[in-house]
Amino acid sequence: MAIEKNLTLLEGEIALVTGATRGIGKSIADEFAQAGATVIGTATTKEGAENISNRLSNLNLNGHGIVLDVANSEQISKEVGSLKESDLMPSILVNNAGISLDNLLMRITKDEWEKVIATNLSSAFYLSKAVIGSMLKNRHGRIINIGSVQGSTGAPGHSHYSAAKAGLIGLTKSLAQEVGSRNITVNVISPGYVSTDMTKQIDDKMNQALLETIPLKRFGKPIDIAKTALYLASSLGSYITGETINVNGGMNML
Ligand code: NDP
Repeated sequence: MAIEKNLTLLEGEIALVTGATRGIGKSIADEFAQAGATVIGTATTKEGAENISNRLSNLNLNGHGIVLDVANSEQISKEVGSLKESDLMPSILVNNAGISLDNLLMRITKDEWEKVIATNLSSAFYLSKAVIGSMLKNRHGRIINIGSVQGSTGAPGHSHYSAAKAGLIGLTKSLAQEVGSRNITVNVISPGYVSTDMTKQIDDKMNQALLETIPLKRFGKPIDIAKTALYLASSLGSYITGETINVNGGMNML
């Protein structure tokens, strides 16, 4: 497929995008690469990482895939160490990888709670900590955390997920205040319902009920989130920090 590149918005940037195999992360990785960034996309498997490398290469874009479990702080230290050795320390970090394990609070096990918190929230702490030193040194950086409308509203069956996504907002606001003077912005994008693997198990009746709550009368597409991420990552969004940008078709309007 021929792709028209816009090689200006992120030219010279190195973007680390977690969960770049599919869904929202894949779209962000492709969008950033098309805007001129070198993209390092993460996957949980070797095959997933190879697919990212092949995809970018087939599109004649810069970047490659790596294997990373974002819930594992030792793996993060090791992989970011390798990026440093290869002179590929990210100027842009997108904490996108996430899981939602639906369950009522009374049935959530300690392991499930810890897995959801580790994957959706602690990961952003580990990765931000791993890359922030080099961003501070360079006096330039962008961190984008992918939250969720459920971080504001909560949802039945999602107490762990909603707690993690709400936690991302506090993390974001605190870090944004710590590093703003060094020209580093830190923001949350809070999607509503986006058509990806994560939402495909929702049945037709529930889909219809959800659509009723969305003024724009459609579910989001990964590219809707990716375009917002591109805005925040580029010079277009350079005066926005500590914010939560809701990209949700108007649901949950205050
Ligand atoms: P998908 O389920 O489509 O993709 C999840 C991605 O996260 C995959 O790339 C997966 O990698 C990766 N991942 C999962 N666990 C880990 C882990 N332990 N370490 C590293 N990577 C991991 O999700 P979406 O694209 O829908 O969601 C992306 C983000 O957007 C998430 O943070 C989600 O919470 C958020 N979001 C999504 C919404 C939606 O409606 N879809 C709404 C609001 C927020 P692999 O393929 O290797 O398994």
